Amino acid sequence: MGSIRLLPDILASQVAAGEVVERPASVVKELVENSIDAGARRITVEFQRGGARLVRVTDDGCGMDRSDALLCLERHATSKIRESADLAAITTMGFRGEALPSIASVSRFKLSTRRREDEVGTLIEVTGGKIHEVQDSGEAPGTRIEVGDLFFNVPARRKFLRGEQTEAANVLQQIEILAVAHSEISFTCIRDDREVFRLAATDDLAVRLRDLHGEAFIKKLTPLAPLENQGVRVHGWLARPGEGRSDRTLQMTFVNGRMIRSPILSLPLREACDGVLAKGLHPPAVLFFEMDPAAVDCNVHPAKREVRFRDPRVIRSVALLAARSAWEALSPPAEPRGDFSPGPGNDPLFPPIIKPVWNPSMQISQPEFSVQELDSARVAESPVLDPSGFRSHPSGLSTPRFLGQLANRYLLFEEQEGLMLLEIRAAHERILYERFLSQLASGPLESQRLLIPEVLEMSPADLAWIDAHRLLLEQVGLVAESFGNSGTGSLKQSLKVDAVPADASSLPAMEVVVRLVDELRTIGEAPTLDKTGREALAASVARLAAAGGRMTSGEEAARMLLKDLLSCELPYATPKGRPTMSQMAPGELVRRFQA
Ligand code: ADP
Ligand code: MG
Repeated sequence: MGSIRLLPDILASQVAAGEVVERPASVVKELVENSIDAGARRITVEFQRGGARLVRVTDDGCGMDRSDALLCLERHATSKIRESADLAAITTMGFRGEALPSIASVSRFKLSTRRREDEVGTLIEVTGGKIHEVQDSGEAPGTRIEVGDLFFNVPARRKFLRGEQTEAANVLQQIEILAVAHSEISFTCIRDDREVFRLAATDDLAVRLRDLHGEAFIKKLTPLAPLENQGVRVHGWLARPGEGRSDRTLQMTFVNGRMIRSPILSLPLREACDGVLAKGLHPPAVLFFEMDPAAVDCNVHPAKREVRFRDPRVIRSVALLAARSAWEALSPPAEPRGDFSPGPGNDPLFPPIIKPVWNPSMQISQPEFSVQELDSARVAESPVLDPSGFRSHPSGLSTPRFLGQLANRYLLFEEQEGLMLLEIRAAHERILYERFLSQLASGPLESQRLLIPEVLEMSPADLAWIDAHRLLLEQVGLVAESFGNSGTGSLKQSLKVDAVPADASSLPAMEVVVRLVDELRTIGEAPTLDKTGREALAASVARLAAAGGRMTSGEEAARMLLKDLLSCELPYATPKGRPTMSQMAPGELVRRFQA
């Protein structure tokens, strides 16, 4: 009772804490991994104020007796290595024996634990590394660890914590990762006293993914029949060809049960998508790689997020093989078309944003990118094309003559006996970008209220991000908030979308939300509305709106588009640098037809 004892290496622990524990999400990771190692079937994660105020993990695992409970707070106390030979063949989640003392050295820490076979359990309280309370406790079998006021005694580190909403989103994402890796365990997550989700244990990964991300997400994936090659086994789910996101939050790769982010895993997945997915997009995937633990060193990174593979080439070839075999199981792609076919499949520059490029259930249809109705409407106001718009342009173009439209994607113009091609969507993107940019300088973009608000299923992490960035999203005309779930069990939290950016209103709301969140997230911390922030917002919405360009055609609209483009400040490329026009000078045509 009340024995006060200083942890042996309190300073070393605090230093180590800097490596192992960066933020509340890392605390969650360490605690939940310990619960998993302890054989838990049910894990509850509670957190408050983004986890900075409190993280509490409760499990029904094996628990500890009193001496082990005290021992686990000592540095390098771990039940997971007995001999150094074990080091090479670690299969549990953690083995460094550093996490608990590190966390306890930088928080108000409470450990309550009981083994099933013991009458009474143990409660230990530690504050900033000082044990000041050891007593009996009468909890249910298992372990509960509470981490309060993280970094309360290390202000320099506390300063590095982001806003509450951002930390909360990180925590949720971390729990999602662990829940995906362990669908056999039931997970409950409670944020600020409200239940975010309660996931029933299942042996079917698809059920877990659906519970977390909704039906729409699982539809974008295709299962990978387990395969083994060169000693590496792999199974899981992979995006259908053409499905991509600009960030990698939905790309989860696990090595021997541990989520690992490594270019050695992600590059081959991206490589497999060359030709079916635009540059800069990543295929969502949930892939589990299993291999001899000796073939992989997971002790490179203190928080064990990185690994070193003994032979990276094997990993690459297995990852490529996995993608190929998952996709081959789908029916073969539609017939390739002629040379000028925009067949998005052959053009990595042309992202399949609205439809998957190749969805086995449907034939490839002509992509619907064309001159927007908007533009033809403007033509009606000024039916006579004013050539001065061209004359003033630095390129010195005279009024180009419209020749026609190719493959629903390019407009062809004759200019000074040369040929000019204009890529419709890229042109739209540039025009809209400049318009949005000037609009944002004076206020939010125009918003289109939905007649009936749409309800979308989204992952808790995405929802948290959206809630955290509501004002920002409203700047671009997206009005949405999470709702639902008053702690009644299986009812999931959803997103209610009230309004979308007016210029993207022809796209399904789900597409708009996912793409916007996705794009804005890659910008990093919330873009503020300074110039850079406005540019980023304008570029995102322009891409989106251009993708939703509606189908019309005709000469007037074509000329109007060209005129709008040429009156842009920087007409020749999209904000991301994709060309809008390509010219073939008369000299070049002559050269092409020389003997
Ligand atoms: P490591 O996980 O690397 O062994 P930790 O500091 O995370 O190091 O944990 C130290 C030890 O405490 C573990 O090896 C384990 O024996 C014990 N332990 C930690 N959390 C739990 C838990 N939830 N249930 C049972 N034992 C636990
Ligand atoms: Mg551990």
